[in-house]
Amino acid sequence: MFTCPKCNAAARTRTSLMLSRETRRSYHQCTNMLCGQSFTTLESVENYLNNVTPSAKAHIIPAGAFPRSNYGENQLSLTL
Ligand SMILES: [Zn+2]
Repeated sequence: MFTCPKCNAAARTRTSLMLSRETRRSYHQCTNMLCGQSFTTLESVENYLNNVTPSAKAHIIPAGAFPRSNYGENQLSLTL
């Protein structure tokens, strides 16, 4: 959870978009009704703490392993 940079209230993440394998842009909206600020954040991998070489099978995630929303479906739209 992020806090609003304008009023410091809790902000709700409305949706997010993968920009690359290591970077995600998230869209937030302040929960303070008197503020209502919308803003984006960037989240990215900063450092790798170890050097792992996964096997070829490790890259295959079985279908249905995660909820549908984890695959980018059923996310909230920001269109007006
Ligand atoms: Zn706010």
